[in-house]
Amino acid sequence: MLSDADLLHTPLPELTALARAVRDEAYGRRVTYSPKVFIPLTMLCRDRCGYCTFAKAPARVTSPYLLPEEVLSIARAGQAAGCHEALFTLGERPELRYPLARQWLDDNGFASTVEYLAHACRLVLEETGLLPHANAGALYPDELAQLRPVSASQGMMVESLATDLEAHRSAPDKDPARRLATLDAAGELHIPFTTGILVGIGDDRAGQVAALRAIAASHARFGHVQEVIVQNFLPKAGTSMARAEPCPPADLHWAIAVARLVLPPEIHIQAPPNLSDDLAPLLHAGIDDWGGVSPVTADHVNPERAWPALDTLRGATESAGHVLAARLTVYPSFAHAPETWLDAGLRFPVLDVADAEGLARDAAWCSGGEVAPPWLLEGFDGAGPPLKAGGRRRGGPVAEVLDGVALGQEVDVDEIVTLFSARGPEVPMVAEVADDLRRQVVGDAITFVQNRNINYTNVCTFKCRFCAFSKGPLSLNLRGAPYLLELDEITRRVAEAEAEGATEVCLQGGIHPNFDGDYYVHVLGAVRAASERIHIHGFTALEVTEGARRSEVPLGEYLVRLKEAGLKTLPGTAAEILDDDIRALICPDKINTEQWLEAHRTAHSVGLRSNITIMFGSVEQPLHWARHMVRTRDLQRETGGFTEFVPLPFVHMATPIYLQRKARRGPTFRETLLMHSVARIAYHGDIDNIQVSWVKMGVEGSRQLLQAGANDLGGTLMDENISRAAGAKHGQRMGVEELEALVAPLGRPLVRRSTLYAMAGTASST
Ligand code: SF4
Repeated sequence: MLSDADLLHTPLPELTALARAVRDEAYGRRVTYSPKVFIPLTMLCRDRCGYCTFAKAPARVTSPYLLPEEVLSIARAGQAAGCHEALFTLGERPELRYPLARQWLDDNGFASTVEYLAHACRLVLEETGLLPHANAGALYPDELAQLRPVSASQGMMVESLATDLEAHRSAPDKDPARRLATLDAAGELHIPFTTGILVGIGDDRAGQVAALRAIAASHARFGHVQEVIVQNFLPKAGTSMARAEPCPPADLHWAIAVARLVLPPEIHIQAPPNLSDDLAPLLHAGIDDWGGVSPVTADHVNPERAWPALDTLRGATESAGHVLAARLTVYPSFAHAPETWLDAGLRFPVLDVADAEGLARDAAWCSGGEVAPPWLLEGFDGAGPPLKAGGRRRGGPVAEVLDGVALGQEVDVDEIVTLFSARGPEVPMVAEVADDLRRQVVGDAITFVQNRNINYTNVCTFKCRFCAFSKGPLSLNLRGAPYLLELDEITRRVAEAEAEGATEVCLQGGIHPNFDGDYYVHVLGAVRAASERIHIHGFTALEVTEGARRSEVPLGEYLVRLKEAGLKTLPGTAAEILDDDIRALICPDKINTEQWLEAHRTAHSVGLRSNITIMFGSVEQPLHWARHMVRTRDLQRETGGFTEFVPLPFVHMATPIYLQRKARRGPTFRETLLMHSVARIAYHGDIDNIQVSWVKMGVEGSRQLLQAGANDLGGTLMDENISRAAGAKHGQRMGVEELEALVAPLGRPLVRRSTLYAMAGTASST
């Protein structure tokens, strides 16, 4: 760590180089921002800071406080524009200075400004889902505690530790001791906290270092400082500092670099993008966050400096070699430890707008829903053959992993996690590499199998929390009554499917309490009664494990019995996420990771092949996806029995775990696209086929995935029930003509295949 003397005497270029290295090590190329609305709850303030135009005299405001309907109207505009944060900024304790403010609070039944702020935060949270960030100044512990249940994070600038600043002469709340006490109190209350320093208001460099060290010390005690804003002073007309010199850019850059070096890497460093004319030097000095940027409201603290448009911010960020990512008001490390850092009432509101990394969901799309996905593949407009993403790969962890892939290196857990972190232009870079590998391995054919799903029962003794198909009290009533198909009905459906050209039946169902091991053998007999030829793809690892258990025979013996009765391949469902920490949350009574792997290992050993699924986007993180891929890849290297990898994005709508407010609303489209691309890269050389689930992706989503490493569209299905029960809206079957329409804009052939990928020719030729 650099001493104060080192910080004060090291030349600026060296300091910023050191700061960049720390930033790059911690955050790679990623720079975040928070899409927000700015809600100035009151512009009255008991303090008179020498640089401030936010605070107004009572005669200059129409009402001492924004009315609840005005607050909501701003928040709703933000909600419509895709914001996730409601930043409440207000003057400090105006009721102590202005009788008008005191009277308004009395008339409206609030004891204090903070009490009204808590009310407004709750209103916004409940009515719009925007996450409040309360920025109410130097508060006492009871006030911070009052706001914690309704604001995901809180903030207060330390500004400076100097006690003799002219700027603060008439501002009792800017007493440094008061502000440090607030900072510590927030830590004691486990509040994710934003603070910062104001550069150029009279403090010297040693003073700025002292302020940063005090912040670091508080964070060392409580771990609660999520970001530090390094803000430059700009003089404003009508203030006592109107004639003061603005903070020179070099001083700002020095303070940013010093903040990055003094504070531990987990604290994010932010500089407001609307207070500097040139953004690149801020990145060069070591920031990793632009703070709140609003597409809706002005910066009421600096109204003369408009927010840059998002496109401008993205352009400036990318031209400096970084990628821009939207975040929540609470940063990922805090969002991922909700029991510690979030009031119980805020945990689901945060989860509901978060992606798997704990950053902000970037579009309204969700799997199985009707909102069209965003186009993530640069240069492709859906109307012709895809254009390559092209462009030179720039540095950063994602590009480094891709460079390794180009050299033939294998990706392991850490590299897979890095690939899943791709944002902005990195996403088409990953997709392009995956698409090239797809072309090398399986060519341009887009394959499908003509099949029928037969879900023989929806009654199940297991209680998987993501499952809307089996009977459960909190599920939406989409699947109708509990049922168990008669064996004759199974035979009839198989005959009907074969008459329509199906070459496969896919058999899956709940684990009925009355089933014994013989039941599955009888089902196979019912299929064979209709057709000797049709390929029987059926029975998950859970079903065969249960069948063997209920038959009281070893699994291998039981699988041989099923094989002799006609079973050919097993679906990879019941894998969910092959990580026992996650299984404990989503399917605690189901087979564990090793049992799933062992069921497939045993199936492969008796000559049954199978596939791998992953059901992603509920509670897990990219690390768990990576472990799932590596574990199944290891088994494939052992047995060679897997035919394909099938990503199944979690369809959340009617699932118990979502209705109980304990899961995200499925993966984002970016995550879904990356799941297919990263799988193509991770399984390269081991598994040739990456499948798209059109049921969950819809037509437009499927098209993009087919250009991002996927090569297979799965089955026509005829009777899809499981995703539909969870709320998916993309239909229960897809005819060959519809599949042809889906692939037509891609300029690639649609080819009918067998379950084991024997090609039967182009779809229309058979
Ligand atoms: S996922 Fe399968 S095992 Fe789990 S509850 Fe649903 S039907 Fe039963």
